[in-house]
Amino acid sequence: MTITTAQFVRGVVGSHNVIVDERPQIAFIGRSNVGKSSVINMLVGQKNLVKSSATPGKTQQINFFLINDALYFVDLPGYGYAKLGAKYREKLRRLILWYFISGEAPITKTVLIIDAKAGLRDFDREMIAVLEEYRHPFIIVANKIDKLNQKETHRALCDIAEEIGDRVPIFPVSAQTGKGGKKVLHNILSGVSLA
Ligand code: GDP
Repeated sequence: MTITTAQFVRGVVGSHNVIVDERPQIAFIGRSNVGKSSVINMLVGQKNLVKSSATPGKTQQINFFLINDALYFVDLPGYGYAKLGAKYREKLRRLILWYFISGEAPITKTVLIIDAKAGLRDFDREMIAVLEEYRHPFIIVANKIDKLNQKETHRALCDIAEEIGDRVPIFPVSAQTGKGGKKVLHNILSGVSLA
């Protein structure tokens, strides 16, 4: 269950050129600034594989990372970055929805990353509805738990579970300290052959 290699393969701005081959895809989604890049970097054990969505000039695109030559981690655009205009944000939203709805990519699991303190927001709720409707298995990663004490973390996890029920696994994580990362990896890589 170890990741030995992780490399950037392709960034895609439109729906064409999305990688579709026999390798399974694990999708990562989340509002911008929840720490999506940090979480992926923690999981692959590389500090700078994924650039923060707040990096100036970083194109908002679907980024494909090849893991152990066996599967892809697919980093969907961070949604809601304030500096992007409403029109462009809507374009990104549509691109994200297309990826899940078109049925083209062999997505085996989706990781919805949220800020544990902020909880579920409208974009997350919309994504959950889409993932459920199109029967994409998903987990929720509640990041930045280093900012909460034990009681607050418990409360945050209960609030999420109360809203979506106990059918979705929720993982408390801190990309900053690495806490919780192993359990997430175990979940998303189980059943996938790492070659
Ligand atoms: P992205 O926009 O979702 O890709 O988010 P980034 O990974 O760029 O992180 C956004 C900000 O949150 C950065 O300032 C990170 O240093 C910070 N951050 C990310 N993960 C954590 C975490 O687990 N704990 C804390 N305290 N900050 C974090």
